[in-house]
Amino acid sequence: MEENSNAFDTKTAETNQSEIICKGCSASLVYKPGTTNLKCEYCGAENEIIVSNEEIKEISFEKFLSEKYDSVDKVEVVTVKCQGCGAETTFDPNIISDSCAFCGSVIVVKTGTSQSIVKPGSLLPFQIDAKKAFLEFKNWINSLWWAPNDLKKLASQSEKIKGMYIPYWTYDSKTSSSYTGQRGDNYTTTETYRGSDGKTATRTVTKIRWTYASGHIYHNFDDVLVLASNSLPRKYTERLEPWDLDKLIPYDEKFLSGFKTETYHIDMKDGFTDAKAKMDDAIRTMIKRDIGGDHQQISSVNTTYEDITFKHILLPIWISAYRYSEKVYRFMVNARTGEVQGERPYSWIKITLAILAGIGAIAAVVYFINQ
Ligand SMILES: [Zn+2]
Ligand SMILES: [Zn+2]
Repeated sequence: MEENSNAFDTKTAETNQSEIICKGCSASLVYKPGTTNLKCEYCGAENEIIVSNEEIKEISFEKFLSEKYDSVDKVEVVTVKCQGCGAETTFDPNIISDSCAFCGSVIVVKTGTSQSIVKPGSLLPFQIDAKKAFLEFKNWINSLWWAPNDLKKLASQSEKIKGMYIPYWTYDSKTSSSYTGQRGDNYTTTETYRGSDGKTATRTVTKIRWTYASGHIYHNFDDVLVLASNSLPRKYTERLEPWDLDKLIPYDEKFLSGFKTETYHIDMKDGFTDAKAKMDDAIRTMIKRDIGGDHQQISSVNTTYEDITFKHILLPIWISAYRYSEKVYRFMVNARTGEVQGERPYSWIKITLAILAGIGAIAAVVYFINQ
């Protein structure tokens, strides 16, 4: 087997940064989305990244609770913190001034802060490149109804789109839930009533007969996904789902080269609270199906969680944060599927004019009908 890693040096030890240098011309190599190659932007050399075929490890949650950070692989990272929104991202020694991908604030950095974090076990590499992401952003902005006109000008600033690896936790668990509740079945009955003319008549009405219900639900949850950051609005990141988690590959910092990585702010303990809430929602849906009938009421649910495991993963998102009228709006692209989500401002002038035009049109119709 040919040893491809001879083609570049990793400077990780000096900079704690996933900077990989081209042997040919000493420029930084960057990961090329949609491939397994590192590309030199200067001499064009491409180096294949050998994707490890080792199994992606699940970490026992119980073991973590008793042994704490001794039970997990850690990594030293150098990060910078945005004063505007608090997001912490990897520090790039080549960039001295930058704007925050999450809030658009200007960040001037000279040094980063070193910290030890749980090492990501796997990741999904970028599939969609900056050009495609920018195109998606432009299409989205142009398709917005009631958007202010000058917002569309913002869409021409392609440098505002940033590729970011976002931290997530995933959890697996076997659950066993016992529940009690009520099952409601519809039935129809005929009732007599007195009509407005004083005569009695009959009509059919639907009523619900409630009966006691109880049972057990067992379920194996796999890869319940929890965002480990507060930098992006959850409402939108959840709409970026689903992610092709079956394609996760073992963590290799070569895939991070040329992109920034956010460090997690929600640890795996708090993350599990979120995961549990997601599992509980799914369990309630299963219970309702189990109860059956036309209506269901759940009175109590008692769930035990066993064989809980977790892993730390990185998922690729293209982000553009734009400031409009003193407010920050964010646009996101799932860099695997191209799914687009974003926050948007409304032009109240346009909406008011449209409403006035609508009222005018109705008034005109009413006027002509009455003629
Ligand atoms: Zn080169
Ligand atoms: Zn920020």
